[in-house]
Amino acid sequence: MPKRNLALDINKKQIIYMYLKELQTQTSIGKKFDVSQSTIRRKLCSWKISTRNTGWGDPTKSHTKSYKAYNTKYAKSKRERLYHAGLCIACGNEPIIQGIKYCKSCKERTKRRWKERRSVVIKAYGGKCVCCGETELDFLCIDHINGGGAKHKKEVGNLYSWLRKEEYPAGFQVLCWNCNHGKYTNGFCPHQQKR
Ligand SMILES: [Zn+2]
Ligand SMILES: [Zn+2]
Ligand SMILES: [Zn+2]
Repeated sequence: MPKRNLALDINKKQIIYMYLKELQTQTSIGKKFDVSQSTIRRKLCSWKISTRNTGWGDPTKSHTKSYKAYNTKYAKSKRERLYHAGLCIACGNEPIIQGIKYCKSCKERTKRRWKERRSVVIKAYGGKCVCCGETELDFLCIDHINGGGAKHKKEVGNLYSWLRKEEYPAGFQVLCWNCNHGKYTNGFCPHQQKR
């Protein structure tokens, strides 16, 4: 085996981390280890790391799934180490206030991503409250038409990811928080009664 490839195997953990967690491209990782992009891709494949873009249409946001599959334990211990060192558990660079896990910019980034993903799902279901027509994304949520939302959410974890993965199944609709709450307390939104 060529020396360079051996270097790749020695640095397996780091490469996988760079690829999955830091979302570096195969090309930039290759440059660092003085090998081509295709060598990195082949290595990743041989380590059973998915090199297919499974993200939200943006290659820099992919791989989350295989990252989870790969050694959660490693990631967890790294996060714990960073946390105890007083560093942001996402970027590992910024110092954090005790008891808070993310630095300001990582928190904002996570929030922004969460919002983007949410908006994709809400738009797929029509993008407005089916009861009152509210279109402000921040006021909207996904409602389980036949109830059982809390239990279902518990089962699937992140509802928005799940809906996207299942390709937007029937049985869900967009409601604003007001209409959702109305439905929750009365079984139907008070708007519907006035009509
Ligand atoms: Zn950070
Ligand atoms: Zn509404
Ligand atoms: Zn309503």
